[in-house]
Amino acid sequence: MSQPSPDSPDVLEKLVSMAKQRGFFFGSSEIYGGINALYDYGPLGARMRRNVRNLWWTAMIESRDDIEPIETSIIMNPQVWVASGHVDTFTDPLVDCTGTCRKRWREDHLADERRARGKPEDAPGCPECGGALTQARQFNLMFRTHLGPVPDDAAQVYLRPETAQGMFVDFTTVVQAMRRRLPFGIAQQGKSFRNEISPSNSIFRTREFEQMEMEFFCKPGTDLEWYRYWCATRLRWWIDDCGVRMSRLRLREHAADELSHYSAATSDVEYRFPWGWGELEGIADRTDFDLRRHSEHSGRDLSYFDTDTNERYIPYVIEPAAGLDRACLTMLIDAWDEEEVRGETRVVLRLHPDVAPWQLAVLPLSKKPQLTEYDETQSIGRRYRRQDEIGTPLAITVDFDSLEDNAVTIRERDGMTQVRVPLVDLEAACEEQLAVCRAAALQRAQSD
Ligand code: ATP
Repeated sequence: MSQPSPDSPDVLEKLVSMAKQRGFFFGSSEIYGGINALYDYGPLGARMRRNVRNLWWTAMIESRDDIEPIETSIIMNPQVWVASGHVDTFTDPLVDCTGTCRKRWREDHLADERRARGKPEDAPGCPECGGALTQARQFNLMFRTHLGPVPDDAAQVYLRPETAQGMFVDFTTVVQAMRRRLPFGIAQQGKSFRNEISPSNSIFRTREFEQMEMEFFCKPGTDLEWYRYWCATRLRWWIDDCGVRMSRLRLREHAADELSHYSAATSDVEYRFPWGWGELEGIADRTDFDLRRHSEHSGRDLSYFDTDTNERYIPYVIEPAAGLDRACLTMLIDAWDEEEVRGETRVVLRLHPDVAPWQLAVLPLSKKPQLTEYDETQSIGRRYRRQDEIGTPLAITVDFDSLEDNAVTIRERDGMTQVRVPLVDLEAACEEQLAVCRAAALQRAQSD
């Protein structure tokens, strides 16, 4: 029987081990002992990431006519980060353990860390060893580097901690280049960097990660309606397009005391991980905060002239901001399943076909024609298991009979059903089977 595996506490451990073995992801520079909270994606991970990027790109850009893509530089003029507030306030409160473990913690994560270790949330001291903690001090999360050959303060720049500011500083240029009228959005996918105090849970929280963000510019007063629209639209993307199970997702609205000072409303799309609820995407009504600040700091007028009403105003902005690494981790965890098949445990990744690294595997004719029927069945079984473990929805087997009957077997991952198909019909049959897999993935996501 199938296990509701994301609830099992060791699913992350098993997944991380499989991810390395099969080439999804693993620690960066491992031959040198690795480097904390930085990861490489192997051949399967790179394919899966591309698929997820494409799903986002299709939903947010290709299938609509109101969003423009851009790609902005990772290092920007440092004044961008002064204006955005990151230089002054992009900080987390850091506390150090003075006991035996000497670990460093985010003060606002202490309760969660204690709970994860089976301790009461308000237990005193360090979540790990109970040692005394220092007073909290604010730690800025931006990575610093220097531009040009002289490493003085004047040349200090930052690696971007989010992709969003590129959309704000280029707003007027895009409006003019594309002759855009409100409401419309600007979107980009790209790397961001945060010197996280306590990276955790594999690729859930890392120091280098990829974001998929969109800024939707609209007329003040229409913002809350657009905010609700984007909350609903983005939640549906996770379920319908990516196959993440609805029963493990929620949209959590921030309470007034949790909202950033500039935000009129914010909701997070959250997933129920084995260690608790975690944010996948934030959807925020950022009002006119960013464009106003950049106007003030740059001295350039970033307001918009509305030809419908003959008014000039600074647009309001709705921002759905998702993380690609977390998306992939979520889809892998959500898809992870183990079941008993003929007395053996079968690990199967029930990935949506559009997310899986490969949609189709062709399992070759055995090189040893002398193999008996029994051996052949065994080796085919093992090959199927290898594809199940990496989530390939369909496998085509060319066997000895194929030479006689010009037909092959298509085997489907989830139900393990097999159909024999004449070679002439193979392409159409694969398309048909993939459509069935997509429908099944949707049903699983919506009902499970
Ligand atoms: P958290 O509260 O988990 O630190 P955040 O609220 O700071 O996240 P945002 O600034 O809203 O995150 O970033 C948008 C998205 O970018 C997040 O929902 C997440 O998917 C992703 N993201 C943010 N920080 C990281 C990180 N350190 N590692 C991986 N993904 C991240």
